[in-house]
Amino acid sequence: VAAIAAASSVSAFAPLAVNSNSRVQQKSAVAPVTPVFEGWSSTDSQLCASLLTDTQMPEKLYMPQQKEAPKVLGGVKIGTRKLVVITGASSGLGLECAKTLAKSGRYFVIMAVRNVEKAKTVAKKLEFPDDSYTVMKLELGSLQSVRDFVGNLKAFKSARPLTNLICNAAVYRPTDPEPAWTDDGFEMSMGVNHLGHFLLVNLLLDDMSKAKNARICIVGSITGNTNTVGGGLVYPQADLAQLEGFEQGARQPVSMIDGKPFFGAKAYKDSKICNMMTVSELHRRYHETTGIVFSSMYPGCIADTALFREKRSWFRKGFPWFMKYVTGGYVGQEEAGERLAQVIDDPQCSKSNVYWSWNGGAQQVGRWSPDGKPRGAGGSGGEIFENEQSGAVKDAVKAKKMWDLSVDLVGLKPKEMFKKSAV
Ligand code: NDP
Repeated sequence: VAAIAAASSVSAFAPLAVNSNSRVQQKSAVAPVTPVFEGWSSTDSQLCASLLTDTQMPEKLYMPQQKEAPKVLGGVKIGTRKLVVITGASSGLGLECAKTLAKSGRYFVIMAVRNVEKAKTVAKKLEFPDDSYTVMKLELGSLQSVRDFVGNLKAFKSARPLTNLICNAAVYRPTDPEPAWTDDGFEMSMGVNHLGHFLLVNLLLDDMSKAKNARICIVGSITGNTNTVGGGLVYPQADLAQLEGFEQGARQPVSMIDGKPFFGAKAYKDSKICNMMTVSELHRRYHETTGIVFSSMYPGCIADTALFREKRSWFRKGFPWFMKYVTGGYVGQEEAGERLAQVIDDPQCSKSNVYWSWNGGAQQVGRWSPDGKPRGAGGSGGEIFENEQSGAVKDAVKAKKMWDLSVDLVGLKPKEMFKKSAV
């Protein structure tokens, strides 16, 4: 306990007192709202508004001609810094985590994003040190793009192995009456949140097995963890049933993992349960043989990120307020980014197969106390702890089935799979 406390106290990324001047909100393509970069001038906000990734789907998410030429390290010296890839690093949790790691001086960050120009602009705006990051194209809604990204990453970093991978990107499309489809014909949440990341992780395992103290974190959610209020009591519940949709090939018109009719809010939750099961399967198969630490985490409710862009405007206004002042479950983007960075960096997070959470609310804002002053719910922002996974997440038989079917769905060939599996 003492060791953990000591490790915790020296962790660079245990949430510290923060300000909120880098909070980002995005407009919805459905109902535009005023763009807000708190603390920025209206000109900045207008710039950001012009950079927002449109949620109207183009016919193809990724064109082969969009393939980037492999980048070269050029004059950048990585030195003893660790190499970390963060998907979805162009906004919200991923952006703030990238900022924290880039500014620590101990990481070189590869921002793996669908909108390269946007990522470059926000990284500059948030003053990432010039030689602390690069931006690379990764469209998770295209298996080809995932493969192209991995090829470019390997060319970029050459023989130096990747030390850290953070699978953070996600879409949430609860109000869609009809499913949207990835380039490969998968329902969008399933394809982007789970299958794209599943392929990415598998293609990088061999390389990462060569790194010392490598860590992979796939961002989870209480919404995929059915033993929580957010996951168990808020309708609909994540439920993969017997993965009938996966067995049917999971391509248009099959939209749900359980094979049932499309339900956008549930599709997101199902994808998150797959993210968390992927972590336990990775641990079971590869922790002993590679030493890689696999984890998942729930950052708290970052109620004002662009994840909620599909929601109606009254929800986007009311939800952060509700989470701040009624449930106390709110966490600001900067603090959430520090939490994710902590999972990657903190010595106390070197245990594999853990679902990390924080036991206090955000320090930045909290419930109103009787004297009328806002108090941080938890004061310190809470201590990190090993959260209990739900029975649904821990269902090992289903997790194995999910893994095997996912291998087929993303077209992983036996020769591409990392050989040193413990099973
Ligand atoms: P954001 O929408 O701000 O971030 C999501 C990121 O994913 C964006 O950078 C987005 O890119 C990227 N992305 C979306 N689709 C694709 C795609 N097809 N290919 C590549 N990248 C894509 O939301 P959050 O920061 O809130 O979410 C980050 C993670 O945190 C998610 O995994 C989410 O499930 C999880 N989470 C969030 C919670 C919350 O309360 N917000 C709570 C629990 C978990 P672009 O910038 O171009 O839009």
